[in-house]
Amino acid sequence: MTDSVLVIGAGVAGMRAALDLARHGIAVVLVEREPVLGGVMASRLCDDEETFDFAHGVEVPKVTQIAAQKNIEVLTMSDVVELNGTAGSFTATIRQRSRFVTDACTQCRHCHTACPQVAPNQFQAGVTLRKAIYTPFRGAFPASYVIDVDTCLNKPPNYLPCQRCVEVCDDKAIHFEVPLERKLTREIGAVVLATGFAVEGSNEPDKYGYGLHPDIMTYMELEQLIAPTGPSGGFVEKLSNSSSPVSVLYVMDDASRFAAGCAAAQCDKLISQDINNVVVLHPPKTNEGDRFTEFWRRVAKRDCVLVEGQLERVTPVEDEQLRVRYKDVTQPLSTTENYDMVVFTTRATASPRFEEVARTLHIEHNGSGFVKAGQAIGGVNATTQPGIYVAGCASGLKDVTETIAESKSAAIHSMRHVTVRAPANGNEPAISGHTGLMIDGKWQTDDQIRQRIESVLINLLQP
Ligand code: SF4
Ligand code: SF4
Repeated sequence: MTDSVLVIGAGVAGMRAALDLARHGIAVVLVEREPVLGGVMASRLCDDEETFDFAHGVEVPKVTQIAAQKNIEVLTMSDVVELNGTAGSFTATIRQRSRFVTDACTQCRHCHTACPQVAPNQFQAGVTLRKAIYTPFRGAFPASYVIDVDTCLNKPPNYLPCQRCVEVCDDKAIHFEVPLERKLTREIGAVVLATGFAVEGSNEPDKYGYGLHPDIMTYMELEQLIAPTGPSGGFVEKLSNSSSPVSVLYVMDDASRFAAGCAAAQCDKLISQDINNVVVLHPPKTNEGDRFTEFWRRVAKRDCVLVEGQLERVTPVEDEQLRVRYKDVTQPLSTTENYDMVVFTTRATASPRFEEVARTLHIEHNGSGFVKAGQAIGGVNATTQPGIYVAGCASGLKDVTETIAESKSAAIHSMRHVTVRAPANGNEPAISGHTGLMIDGKWQTDDQIRQRIESVLINLLQP
């Protein structure tokens, strides 16, 4: 039996679960495939200024909190490749790819200037470019630079055709001689699976005129302009001429709770930057209960105009404007208006990694590419394998509020499989052999644990 829980995925769900576990004295191994923490919302979660998401009314976890937690071992560029054992006593094998840059990196940027290889920065939805040696964005964690071997001229272990970055690195932080990858094993009692979701690019480019003009963009591209760590420092600018937009048409591809959550958060940001003409064009609302209505209320409260209808055409016109024609279901004729920017949501899907992760963990999916959840003990968090719990969008698309509630619940369930626990301050030595659970400095009885789990689940289901 061990005192550790393995958390796979370091987006909102994985970070929330890891922090909750660590704060209750559980040792956490946090495994993330990418070189930095944060997942799809990385640029937001790396910014420490806003810990509260006003659009959703919840506190979001921050990477600085993870960095400060001694109980969390962070393994980036890593994948779990094998899991053996049973609940309470698993052995995980983790493959970690090399960064080729050590912690000695001072982020001086000399290598970035020297490197000749350029690629779109996938961490900023391609709105910026990066070099083969790079850090995804300001404030990323871990902070040290990373080499993308696929774009580097010096793809190890080949002959060294390029040494430019090594030559300018005064801190001797770049090492091509290290192995391409290494294997690690960790003894863990439970797993929290938080692999999140994937966002498609533009699925119907002709419909939205995507690619015709830089100010027609996806909501993931807008997300980068909103993020304080983004290319415009968090102030939304037109990509065509760097001016501030006055009017934005926000086109929703679907009216799910997930899409409404994204729209609410982003429109809230647009309005808070004095962009007063924000029109949300949406399909008919789906019946997703009171919480969905709450999202609409939040959007409308922020002075956005909600129009049920369909986009018909976007045409770039003079003065970097976009002429939009759309059908408002309440009007007999189509409406034509000019906007500075057109933003559209794109489809979110199950993570393409899930198939492979499911095979490794011996769990089932639900036929749509998401984890099959809601099995026996563990409620919404339980997978088809005891001791493996799912949190957030890995089991289906959810908004931030639901994701955080589910992550807290997954953390609590996973604590049941860990028998060696430390006091709640998390930084003191572990207490071996105790079979109870300590929460907020007090040992809990089985009934208290059960009540805690029930209250989390009740909160989760409440509007
Ligand atoms: S790898 Fe070296 S040159 Fe590049 S940012 Fe780090 S310290 Fe500077
Ligand atoms: S070896 Fe050359 S191409 Fe590769 S990261 Fe360094 S400077 Fe860039």
